[in-house]
Amino acid sequence: MTLLEALKWGRAALAGGESPDIDAQLLLMQAAKVSRTTLLAFGERPLAPQAQAQFEGYIARRQNGEPVAHILGEQEFYGLALEVNPHTLIPRPDTETLVDLALALPEAPLRFLDLGTGTGAIAIAISHHRPAWQGVAVDAIAEAAALAGRNVQRHQAKVEVCQGSWFMPVRGQRFGLIVSNPPYIDPVDPHLGQGDVRFEPLSALIAEEAGLADLRYLVEQAPAYLESPGWLMLEHGYDQGAAVRQLMSERGFELVRSERDLGGQERVTLGQWQDK
Ligand code: GLN
Repeated sequence: MTLLEALKWGRAALAGGESPDIDAQLLLMQAAKVSRTTLLAFGERPLAPQAQAQFEGYIARRQNGEPVAHILGEQEFYGLALEVNPHTLIPRPDTETLVDLALALPEAPLRFLDLGTGTGAIAIAISHHRPAWQGVAVDAIAEAAALAGRNVQRHQAKVEVCQGSWFMPVRGQRFGLIVSNPPYIDPVDPHLGQGDVRFEPLSALIAEEAGLADLRYLVEQAPAYLESPGWLMLEHGYDQGAAVRQLMSERGFELVRSERDLGGQERVTLGQWQDK
């Protein structure tokens, strides 16, 4: 079998799925250990039997719904390759909006906090573009904190990773910026039964109060950990912008506004804190 024949077979096997072309390509690149350029320009090259067997295994897993990121063990976020595993959320392009907003702040050195860091994606992306900033990344799940630590190491990010619940590991500390992509899906949301989320832990996805409980907690607690002035930036569901703006305004945040993701949905709400 040649690379091109394998690619066509894989694509056909995944037809009807969300993205058969790109999925088959990524899985074949990994199985055959070739770049996209090689795959597309030298499709007549033979695929070794062992690589073919591996590719068939990958395709079977994908047919079973397993996310490509879990099969590859890797996902790109903000141009950075990150290790991923089933213990936490797979970084999403939507979340790049949050990184964009953080990078729009003045560049002067600051300390920032990423709560519920998961793979470490947000903290590492910020750190990569702001090497003078010092990050702290927290996750309650031990396996996620360990994973974030490996990704921090891989990218030599200036980020300290701590395990603990929300602000617990940073008691008494203050930050110029707090960011978070907390769980915000309503536990009864039917989307939880579709696509990649079926393979992600509920601890990273769902929150009580129709998804608002953790967002509410973070808005309430953040001022005690923010410098004055300091920014809070929270990712949320496409229909939660108004609710999060209200939570922040009522808590006393200023300059509260929401920003849209690449799909045009309100995805991040931010506000500035000043001690009164
Ligand atoms: N954006 C993710 C999704 O809708 C959820 C992420 C989260 O709950 N923080 O699949």
